Amino acid sequence: MIEEVYKNIYRIGVVLPGNPLKELNSYFIRGKDSDLLIDTGFRRPVCREALEQGLRELESDPARRDVLATHLHSDHSGMADLFTGPDRCIYMSAVDIALLNRFNEEKDPFYRHSRFLEEGFPREVLLEVFRTNPAMTEKMPGMDGRLCGLQDGDILQVGDYRLETLLVPGHTPGNTMFYLRDQQIMFTGDHILFDITPNITHWQGFEDSLGSYLDQLRRVRDIPVRLALPGHRKTGDYRARIDSILDHHRRRINDALQIIEQHPGMSAYEIAGCMKWKIRAADWDSFPVVQKWFAVGECLSHLDYLLKRDRIRYEIAGRAKRYYLR
Ligand SMILES: [Zn+2]
Repeated sequence: MIEEVYKNIYRIGVVLPGNPLKELNSYFIRGKDSDLLIDTGFRRPVCREALEQGLRELESDPARRDVLATHLHSDHSGMADLFTGPDRCIYMSAVDIALLNRFNEEKDPFYRHSRFLEEGFPREVLLEVFRTNPAMTEKMPGMDGRLCGLQDGDILQVGDYRLETLLVPGHTPGNTMFYLRDQQIMFTGDHILFDITPNITHWQGFEDSLGSYLDQLRRVRDIPVRLALPGHRKTGDYRARIDSILDHHRRRINDALQIIEQHPGMSAYEIAGCMKWKIRAADWDSFPVVQKWFAVGECLSHLDYLLKRDRIRYEIAGRAKRYYLR
């Protein structure tokens, strides 16, 4: 399905079967000498067919097509190398490129997830996550010589459009948005989504992902935006949505504090089980494993936020950290 969302800017819906996100919004900008494709979908035949079909309808030629991934997640970058010509560029923030390369070189998947084990996440459940999570199984393989690293403020010119890179670390350490100042259009990627809340998780080596995410929401809040083009699902009012996401996290932070107050000494794994989630499962034990991994990651980003601000503390007891109010 394609839709012209603005002059020479098209949205291609790429289905993500079985995923709560439902669809990835891939955007195609038609330029003069070159075109730009923003985000691609998982490296999976059904995603590939959907994107190929859309690009065929747009009569797009891969030899003049660059690809831009707003961040390293596989539903955005997974097929980047398949959709651009041999002499073209795959743009992504330099931060996420470095991370992607590190992940691809990793021999031991437990290394990056050691924090999950310290927080009471069962090892056998984690193994199941590695086996089934499309973020790990359907990604772009290895280093691609066409990767071009972007920094905050870098400009990409595509036809009449000037895309300004905004580095907004939070959803990933090198997450980006792209702003068309003259048209007041913002490609929000997964920094701002409208009918779901972007997942903010723990990243090894990235100290306070939630604090950074909230700072970056406040930093971009007052930019004039007439049309927001998100990475998934529908668009909406840019500033009102930022305010409601800020509100949402204020509530979530308080929920986490309350749970710790009522049940001092729980592990992050147990705290996550007490938080509210929009998932149809009878209880925490019957959560699908990948969703459990997302939930604990998100819980950790909230605990890190509170630790950094001295609201909570932990003690190590048995094999897990146990949390208490300060
Ligand atoms: Zn993402």
